[in-house]
Amino acid sequence: MRNHALETVSIVTLGCSKNTVDSEVLVRQIQANNLAYTNDPKDADTVIVNTCGFICEAKEESIRTILEAGALKKQGVIKKLLVMGCLTERYRQELEATLPEVDAFFGTTDLDAILATLGVNLKRELLGERSLSTPSHFAYLKISEGCDNPCSFCAIPLMRGGHRSRPMEEIIHEAEFLARSGVREIIIIAQDTTYYGLDLYGERRLSSLLQAVANIDGIDWVRLLYAYPAQFPLDVLHVVREHPNVVPYLDLPLQHVSDQVLISMRRGISGRRTRELLRQIRDEVPGIILRTTLIVGYPSETDEAFRELVEFVRESRFERLGVFTYSREDGTSAALLGDPVPAEVKAERREEIMGIQQDISRQFNESLVGSKLPVLIDRAENGVFVGRTPFDAPEVDNEVYLTAEDTLELNPGSLVLARISDATEYDLRGYVQ
Ligand code: SF4
Repeated sequence: MRNHALETVSIVTLGCSKNTVDSEVLVRQIQANNLAYTNDPKDADTVIVNTCGFICEAKEESIRTILEAGALKKQGVIKKLLVMGCLTERYRQELEATLPEVDAFFGTTDLDAILATLGVNLKRELLGERSLSTPSHFAYLKISEGCDNPCSFCAIPLMRGGHRSRPMEEIIHEAEFLARSGVREIIIIAQDTTYYGLDLYGERRLSSLLQAVANIDGIDWVRLLYAYPAQFPLDVLHVVREHPNVVPYLDLPLQHVSDQVLISMRRGISGRRTRELLRQIRDEVPGIILRTTLIVGYPSETDEAFRELVEFVRESRFERLGVFTYSREDGTSAALLGDPVPAEVKAERREEIMGIQQDISRQFNESLVGSKLPVLIDRAENGVFVGRTPFDAPEVDNEVYLTAEDTLELNPGSLVLARISDATEYDLRGYVQ
């Protein structure tokens, strides 16, 4: 309900977990400055759309969301509409020229200016504090901004700039704040988490950062996402193996395996080195869960290159895998290659790989039936508790559906030991006694 006494603000956050963190930082500042906050844009005086500009679909969704908020303004439901984030970084002039209903545009690092537009000041003492939009027992921890890698298909450096690591003390301060706020699972994110420290300390410091976060009281799970394969810092694997609360899980977007495509993508790694790295990771941390992301339909992806990718997916047996179809993004070096692979061929290739992955995922999940696994409860639904094992990141991986004896007090954030009784390709079922 709108608080007529206070100016009420609502943020609509699109895109990735980095945007989620940016919005959470802003909400903390808004609430600390005696402004009211609501999750419902219709109940706000000011709506802020935190946009994504990654690929076509994401850009379309951002525009659609701005227009929806613009309609609320035209109807007099809201007074002010602000737009922030990646889409502004990429298309500010076009947006300013075509969206007169928007009162002001901001980029990805304009916290001060946004607060000034709301008539308040940045409270520096609160930096490192956030108002979580995720369930209160897990949170993303952004360790750097931007990216220095030259991937030919990627527009992120155009929007987020070059790589800037956050000082380790600042990150630990924020992680301690999250632990004090009841967070049990910390998910480490960046554009490229493996690059952490190289700019600031002259060396890769991801492993020492991981250890420092793992040593914080109250953190049961530490999860690492967005690890870039080229020059992957192997010392990270020791930390994963040695620290029981660093979950045996690694998100390692590979994008492709064909040398010809990897060279054109400027990924800085060969197919042979990729396979070798996967072997090293599985040898160093037996039982580790590997998630990867692939792109199909890249301009230079021939049938032969795609066949190689299909074989690679079969032989590598990733426990978790996602596939994007190539999206030609203006301003990237790959854009010069055009977009020769027809959309229907891209869709067929994606479908073929996801079909193979479905079987691999089912077989892996079936191998867990009968075992006992830790499960972090995310929510309750119709008398069933829904959660994740250490093998599952929020929003992208599998879920576990649990029944529990009435005597047990289970809530979101409860960490339980569950017996797995059944499996499908993408979910598990079980019970807690
Ligand atoms: S690592 Fe490559 S794909 Fe990832 S954000 Fe950086 S440039 Fe983009």
